[in-house]
Amino acid sequence: MSEEKMSAETYVVSGGRPAHEHDAPVNPPIILSSTYRGAGTVDTVSDKVYARFANPTWEAMEEVVAGLEGGTHGLLFPSGMAAIASILDLVPVGSVILIPKHAYMASITMSKDLQKRGIAEVVRIDLEDTASVIAAFEDAAARTGVTPETVDYAAPKVLAWLESPTNPMLEVADLPTICAAAKRLGVVTAVDNTFATPILQKPLSFGADVVVHSATKFLAGHSDVLLGVTVTSNEDLYQAMLHHRITNGAIPGPVEAWLGLRGLRTLALRVERSVHNAQRLAERLSEHPAVEEVRYPGLPGSNGHELAKKQMHGGFGAVLCVVLRASDEQTQRVVEALRVWTPATSLGGVESLIERRRRHGSEPDSIPPSLLRLSVGIENVDDLYQDLVTAIEQVIQ
Ligand SMILES: *Cc1c(COP(=O)(O)O)cnc(C)c1O
Repeated sequence: MSEEKMSAETYVVSGGRPAHEHDAPVNPPIILSSTYRGAGTVDTVSDKVYARFANPTWEAMEEVVAGLEGGTHGLLFPSGMAAIASILDLVPVGSVILIPKHAYMASITMSKDLQKRGIAEVVRIDLEDTASVIAAFEDAAARTGVTPETVDYAAPKVLAWLESPTNPMLEVADLPTICAAAKRLGVVTAVDNTFATPILQKPLSFGADVVVHSATKFLAGHSDVLLGVTVTSNEDLYQAMLHHRITNGAIPGPVEAWLGLRGLRTLALRVERSVHNAQRLAERLSEHPAVEEVRYPGLPGSNGHELAKKQMHGGFGAVLCVVLRASDEQTQRVVEALRVWTPATSLGGVESLIERRRRHGSEPDSIPPSLLRLSVGIENVDDLYQDLVTAIEQVIQ
């Protein structure tokens, strides 16, 4: 069976294996070596040379994630932020970075750092207002003079940083419309697909130029490693990100890469179960009198539901937010009263995590103080619900 015909559930298990030969290991080995034997003239394309340039243990995971996203090239990094840096750092002096008003905090910080150093101008966009996003693209394209014919993917003058659903507000962006507008204008698009995973959403198929993941989250899935990955089918972007990884030296450890692939094998199964749990919890929590609002694109009538139905397949993700009718202090006590849920930042693991987002001083005021972000794991959904309701009713009379 060809890889193109395989479903994601099959490919995530069968991809990235060693050659099908007698006595070959079933899993890729962990290659622990800082250098490779060689004496002749170096061929930089086919020779491994040195372990900052290449490692076969990375390649297995890169191949599987690239295949899942429908891209030709995957690159593994030691964290999501190292992967994000390999894209954001490409912008030249005088460039514009368009980034959502709500997005992963460190991605916003990294963009602002580029602005502080006089390299790029940062423009904030509201992903729920497609017309205003396209207007911001048109303005940035006009001011920088980019056109679809002259766009330099290795040094993008206008870079749109997209997330859908966003962290932590779960806003949904109209990715096909936004990516098509970007193509018409010469704007390069990067999509952080961490929340959706390639099981539910494939941004490259909507015309995005590059996809990035914090593989620390759903891809690795067990809260035991940090990793990041980028996927593209654009040769210039791939070469630029590879050059960035080699020269900056942000390379993943072979043991982490091996653990990442080991976790990835169950991605389809974990996502299916977590998404099912999240949908049930969102529906049941919306009915609870102590809950002011549940933010989840899977709820009919929620802002992004119709869009999400068109561009996500198999569910709406395993992260949801609950705004309690409670003070900050009561919300904190609810988190502390939980037994099954683990109070911790991060998401995408087999275990359910919960966090009051405003415990981070850097989270903006537009995030309600009593907002809890729930990363729903694979436990029994009734246990998860009962634990939440018991804690809520213990604290809020
Ligand atoms: C966690 C996260 C990141 C950063 O990834 P690290 O692996 O922690 O460096 C980026 N984007 C999103 C959406 C995330 O959730």
